[in-house]
Amino acid sequence: MLRCWSNDEHFSTPFALGVEIMLKYAMQLQEVLEKAAKIGDLNREEIACLLSLEAENDINALFKVADDIRREQVGDEVHVRGLIEFSNICARSCLYCGLRSENSSVHRYRMPIEEIIDTALKVAGLGIGTIVLQSGEDPWFTADRISEIVRGIKSRANVAITLSIGERECDEYRIMKEAGADRFLIRHETATPDLYHALHPGSSFERRVECLHMLRELDYQIGCGCMVGLPGQGIENLVDDIMFIKELQPDMVGIGPFIPHPDTPLHDSPIGDLTLTLKMVALARIVTRNALIPATTAVGSIDELGREKALQVGANVMMPNYTPMKYRVDYEIYPNKRCINEDPMLCHGCMKMRIESIGRKVAQGPGHSYKREGVRR
Ligand code: SAH
Repeated sequence: MLRCWSNDEHFSTPFALGVEIMLKYAMQLQEVLEKAAKIGDLNREEIACLLSLEAENDINALFKVADDIRREQVGDEVHVRGLIEFSNICARSCLYCGLRSENSSVHRYRMPIEEIIDTALKVAGLGIGTIVLQSGEDPWFTADRISEIVRGIKSRANVAITLSIGERECDEYRIMKEAGADRFLIRHETATPDLYHALHPGSSFERRVECLHMLRELDYQIGCGCMVGLPGQGIENLVDDIMFIKELQPDMVGIGPFIPHPDTPLHDSPIGDLTLTLKMVALARIVTRNALIPATTAVGSIDELGREKALQVGANVMMPNYTPMKYRVDYEIYPNKRCINEDPMLCHGCMKMRIESIGRKVAQGPGHSYKREGVRR
């Protein structure tokens, strides 16, 4: 594995060797952290070094660098996005996802168009400036139908709309953009092509990345992201993810732990590690500087205070779930999702309390990308 220091030199005694290595390690770690704080342009070895930190003090030093960059670059405001999971029908077979088409134990639903619009308008009425419309890859929701929803919402509420509906043709993305969609989340899931292909039968990493580029070309604000702790994923693969994020410089980056779903082929794999997930959030902040980074529901699902912890290591977005009660239990991408049995209309108060409990404030307005010049925030 890559290390922060090279231990190929000769030392007189084991004690001297130990002290020497510790000193070298401390100095080199300090240098890497300073570089992270100043420019963020870390190389593979430096990223691997930070991801491999084990001592609590060292990990906290990494977290502090990320939190300082977050404060300096994007301030104390936390942007709230209202999530509506409008269909759990999916044509894909992603090995980790509970909604994969092969899972016949899911009760499938599709919210009617009017109900999606009404729900979005209620969320907008709470003062939330962005609606995220997410679904499986459901072909019934053609570009025209999605456009009808986007127009229906935008003609009656002053909100930004983020789509998270998977891979489509360029023309479809164009139609939805012209209808008024502002942003698009399409996680790259893992930036190691072999691992991507092993986890996504019939899909290609190259195509996923092409979608991100097409969306950017069409002037969407784009979001990529990955899972942490996927079976077969090691530090080297996570380095791939951070390098990918650094090179793409997306407007948004979503990172969460992998959570095994009992009705998928990965049911026996362990849950992604919280600290490693937080290190990835910190590194995403370090290499992007001013991206919008959510404290994901998944991180809140493996730890009661997971989202607060993420907000303190670089994250600056929360995505409370406003899917109506009767549907939300069936949008089970992974089990034990946070707030699955909560009344959605109580989410706003809870979110605000969580944000304020750590000395931060709720942002107003649409909360557009900090990477776009001239966009009204
Ligand atoms: N169909 C859309 C939305 C997918 S759901 C798309 O393809 O973009 C949103 C995200 O949930 C996925 O991108 C994936 O990163 C995450 N996810 C899915 N299954 C998961 C699991 N078992 N554990 C953790 N995250 C998961």
